[in-house]
Amino acid sequence: MSSEPAGGVRIDDLPIRDELRGKSPYGAPQLDVPVQLNTNENPYPLPEPLVERIAERVREAARGLNRYPDRDAVELRTQLAAYLSRTTGHLVGIENVWAANGSNEVIQQLLQTFGGPGRTAIGFEPSYSMHGLISRGTGTGWISGPRHDDFTIDLPAAERAIAEHRPDVIFITSPNNPTGTAVDRDTVLALFDAAQAAKPSLVVVDEAYVEFSHRPSLLSLIEGRPNLVVSRTMSKAFGAAGLRLGYLAAAPAVVDAVQLVRLPYHLSAVTQATALAALEHTDTLLGYVEQLKAERDRLVTELRAIGFSVTDSDANFVQFGRFDDAHEAWQKILDRGVLVRDNGVPGWLRVTAGTPTENDAFLDAVRELMKEQSA
Ligand SMILES: *Cc1c(COP(=O)(O)O)cnc(C)c1O
Repeated sequence: MSSEPAGGVRIDDLPIRDELRGKSPYGAPQLDVPVQLNTNENPYPLPEPLVERIAERVREAARGLNRYPDRDAVELRTQLAAYLSRTTGHLVGIENVWAANGSNEVIQQLLQTFGGPGRTAIGFEPSYSMHGLISRGTGTGWISGPRHDDFTIDLPAAERAIAEHRPDVIFITSPNNPTGTAVDRDTVLALFDAAQAAKPSLVVVDEAYVEFSHRPSLLSLIEGRPNLVVSRTMSKAFGAAGLRLGYLAAAPAVVDAVQLVRLPYHLSAVTQATALAALEHTDTLLGYVEQLKAERDRLVTELRAIGFSVTDSDANFVQFGRFDDAHEAWQKILDRGVLVRDNGVPGWLRVTAGTPTENDAFLDAVRELMKEQSA
């Protein structure tokens, strides 16, 4: 990753911020192998009619590219609010919704607004590593909170950690990445109450994978709780990771607050046009989600039948183990042409649900691995 640049000058030779010294950038290895099940992408390319519609809307947008885009993304936020209202049954309006370039940017804007130097954020690990990385990037101190061995949140320990550290931002990822674990409503409410008892603080429920969950969204929790934000993305369920569109739902005051830090015109007219086209095809895209949920459930069942331990999954991926050496197992699966993810959770690997053919290739690879190990 940190190949030496021309001139022999390394990152650490530059006058960069102390907290960035010696760190590596985020990123899964992108290897050119036949079956890539490592980044939780949706394996289905966008359907052709949607591709056509994107071309149409982008052509329209192109005619106005001499002008800055709608910096408030009014049409897009209106459609996102309609999508949320329709799929969760909880009515939200444009004043509740904010959009940015991926939910990573949403998270960055939240940390710029509610975190920052002298402030701290907590997440319950293993979880989405970008929460910690974006915290660091915004000068926010990072606290690693606990989980049980089965990867559910250890509530009493989490409450103690919150009381002790009094964080300014609390991340709850449900379903959690990389474990697939959903967090139940009562646990989120208990964590929210514990957080507010320690000090007024922002609770971010990261629902990047919620469309794949057996459980309903926790969107309605924003009602009467201005310090609770739900973040979402079009990268997973909508099969549009390349689009870079994330969004949040919260009280209108939160939407106003993030506008204090957003860059002017952060969301390009091309991005807005593309996202609007995708939202017109929501029903088709959610149809793929149903197929992926069935494949996810098949992966869980078959992996258990082969003899692996599998963490219950509410997402489009499955955590499986246990390996004495997860990295060695990762390499052996890769040697068979299948790329999965080693998230650094000792003993465990993560596989994204792909197409039925891709999943069969993966299952064949791990069956061989299992035979080899018991031989
Ligand atoms: C993939 C993922 C995201 C999405 O990030 P984008 O910037 O929207 O692509 C957010 N949160 C979690 C937990 C994720 O796994």
